[in-house]
Amino acid sequence: MAGLAAVAIQTIEVPVAIAVARATEEAHGGLLQVAAIPDGFRPLFAILLLDYTLYIWHRLTHRVPLLWRFHRVHHIDREMDASTALRFHFGEITLSVAFRAAQIWLIGPSPEMYASWQMLLILCILFHHSNIRLPLNLERRLATVVVTPRLHAIHHSVKSEELNSNWSSGLTIWDWLHGTLRTKTPQESIVIGVQGFRDERDQELGSLLVHPFVCPADVPRVGTKTTRERPSQLEA
Ligand SMILES: [Zn+2]
Repeated sequence: MAGLAAVAIQTIEVPVAIAVARATEEAHGGLLQVAAIPDGFRPLFAILLLDYTLYIWHRLTHRVPLLWRFHRVHHIDREMDASTALRFHFGEITLSVAFRAAQIWLIGPSPEMYASWQMLLILCILFHHSNIRLPLNLERRLATVVVTPRLHAIHHSVKSEELNSNWSSGLTIWDWLHGTLRTKTPQESIVIGVQGFRDERDQELGSLLVHPFVCPADVPRVGTKTTRERPSQLEA
């Protein structure tokens, strides 16, 4: 899964992203070029805006039936560790390219800023999917700023109310602002995976590759209740 995803990233996503970033920079387009932002602050704004728009994309992958079919492959893993971070269907990466191009066109990061964000994002994704057990107090402090393993484990729960929370990838503030931050869930109560796809067969490479094409979309029900729980309330 990781190999195919890496091929899609290197052959489609990165070339398109860099080309759009270069074209936007040359045309002096994008929010960062148009707004009166001091040069030194541009990389910071680029990372903030790219991280926020990625939050929107992640929500869309859970709401739009076609996107959910592909993103569900990532959620089917029954045990979370750093390898889960690499388990994306190449179709999801391919479908994300148009959104990625729009993000860059709208925001206008330079190719270097975009590449730095990608590097940071990979580190964040590896970290929050990892099975590192941090001291609870330290993780609560970290969770005030960035997405941590306990926070993201809640997003990988089979329960739809938990699945439909904690969508941030880098900074936790986006979940907090949107009322989708969930922290008061004891970790031992979480069953990781997707209801109906927890058999041994669902975990096999062949099943995962054909999954988006043969399994019905079945978008999980979304509650309207907001969950602005505080990082300091993160449960062990
Ligand atoms: Zn997800």
